[in-house]
Amino acid sequence: MSGRRLFDVAIVGAGMVGAALALDLAQRGFDVALVESRPPAPWRAEDEVDLRVVALAASSIALLQRLDVWTSIAASRASAYRRMQVWDALAPGSLGFDAADEGAAALGYIVENKLIQSALWRAIERQPAIRLHCPARVVATEVSTGAAIESRITNHESRLLTLDDGTQLKARLVVAADGDDSALRGLLGIATRDRDYAQRGIVAHVAHERAHEATAWQRFLPGATLAFLPLADGRSSIVWSVPNDEAERLLALDDVAFRTELGAAFDFRLGAITATTRRAAFPLRLRLAERYAAPRFALVGDAAHVVHPLAGQGVNLGFRDAVELANVLAEAKNRKVADSSHDFASEYTLRRYERRRRSDNAIAANAFDVIQRGFGSDVAAVAALRGVGLALVDRVAPLKRFFAHHAAG
Ligand SMILES: Cc1cc2nc3c(=O)[nH]c(=O)nc-3n(C[C@H](O)[C@H](O)[C@H](O)COP(=O)(O)OP(=O)(O)OC[C@H]3O[C@@H](n4cnc5c(N)ncnc54)[C@H](O)[C@@H]3O)c2cc1C
Repeated sequence: MSGRRLFDVAIVGAGMVGAALALDLAQRGFDVALVESRPPAPWRAEDEVDLRVVALAASSIALLQRLDVWTSIAASRASAYRRMQVWDALAPGSLGFDAADEGAAALGYIVENKLIQSALWRAIERQPAIRLHCPARVVATEVSTGAAIESRITNHESRLLTLDDGTQLKARLVVAADGDDSALRGLLGIATRDRDYAQRGIVAHVAHERAHEATAWQRFLPGATLAFLPLADGRSSIVWSVPNDEAERLLALDDVAFRTELGAAFDFRLGAITATTRRAAFPLRLRLAERYAAPRFALVGDAAHVVHPLAGQGVNLGFRDAVELANVLAEAKNRKVADSSHDFASEYTLRRYERRRRSDNAIAANAFDVIQRGFGSDVAAVAALRGVGLALVDRVAPLKRFFAHHAAG
C-alpha cells in the first residue's frame, strides 16, 4: 500500500514545473510520487495551435534538453524568435535585441504549454522511479516522525499526504507545484503578498499582412501592454494586457472590429490584422509567497510566485526553481550518502533553496511590477523618461548585454 511506502519526494501538481521537477529528480536517483488533479489534454499535431503559449528562455531550453524532451518538442511545433523589439506609444525611443549579437541562433522559443506538458508526461510514463497518482487531490498533510514506518528513517521526520481517494503517501519532502491558487500552500498556512493588477491578459493567434521576421514585439501603451510572439506558421500569438473594463469591451467586439483595434494598438507594425482565432482572457496579478520552505515542504513555480506576463518570465522562473531545488537536494543527498545519513531534506537544505530562489524571484517580480506601473503611466514627464530609458539601454552595449542575459536566464 502506498501509505507504507516512503518516497523521497512527493510533488503535488504535474503542470510544466511539477512535471519537469519530477523528471529531473528521478533522473538524479530519487523515488518520486507525483499527484495531479486532472490529466492534461493530449497535444496533437493536427490540432489548431493552443491559445496558451509561453516564450521559453535559454535556461528553460537547457533544462528541457537535459531532461531529453526538447528534441521531440522542437520537432513537433516550436517557433524560434531571433529578435525582440520593445517600443512605447508615447515616447520615441525603442529597444532591440538580436540573437546574432549574443552569438546565439535564437533568443528563445514560443511553445504551447500543452506540448511542453505532454512531452514531459510521456517521459514520466517511461520513468520507473516516478509513481503517478492522477486524478487525485491532497486533502490533508502533516509532519510525522516516521520511526515506526520504516527503519531507515528512524529519527528522521517525513511528511504524510492524504489524497481524496483515501490513499496516504509518505515522503521525506513534499513539494507544492499546484499553481497560482495552490491548495497545499493554503494547507501549510503560508501567506502570500498579493497585488491585483485589475487587468486581464487577452490571448489569441492572429494573421497579419507583413511577415513577423521571427521577432517578439512588445508595445507599451497608456495603461496597457501588447505583445506579438511569432508562431511557426507565420501568425503571431498576442498577449494584450488591459484594464478589466477594457478587456470586457474588447472581448465583446466582433472579429472585424477586434482586428481593427488590435492593428491600431500595434501601430500597424505588421500591417493590417487579417484573421484572428477566438479570444481568451486571464486575470493578472502579482502574488509572492512569504516563505518557500516549511518542515519537509517546499514551493516551486506559480505556487511560489505569480508575475505579470509582460516579460514572459513566469514559467522560466518556475523552471529555475525546479533546477535549484533539484541541485540542493542532490548535493545534500550525495553529502549524506558519504556520511551514511539519509536526510537530504533537512531544514538547512530547504533554507538554502529558499535563499537562492526567493530573492531572485522577488527581484524579477518587482522589476516587472515597476515596469508595468511606469510604462502604464500617460503622464508626459514619465513617458519622456521611458523614451530616454529605452534609447539609453539600446545604445549602451554593457547595459543591453545585461538585460539580454537576464532575459535568457
Ligand atoms: C496570458 C499569460 C501569458 C503568459 N506568458 C508566459 C510566457 O511567455 N513565458 C513564461 O515563462 N510564462 C508565461 N506565463 C506564465 C506561465 O503560464 C505560468 O508561470 C506557468 O504556467 C506556471 O506553471 P506551473 O507548473 O507552476 O503551474 P500550473 O501550470 O498552474 O500547473 C499546476 C498544476 O497543478 C495541478 N493542480 C492544481 N491544484 C491541484 C491539487 N489540489 N492537487 C493536485 N494537482 C493540482 C493543475 O491541474 C496543474 O496541472 C503566462 C501567463 C499568462 C496568464
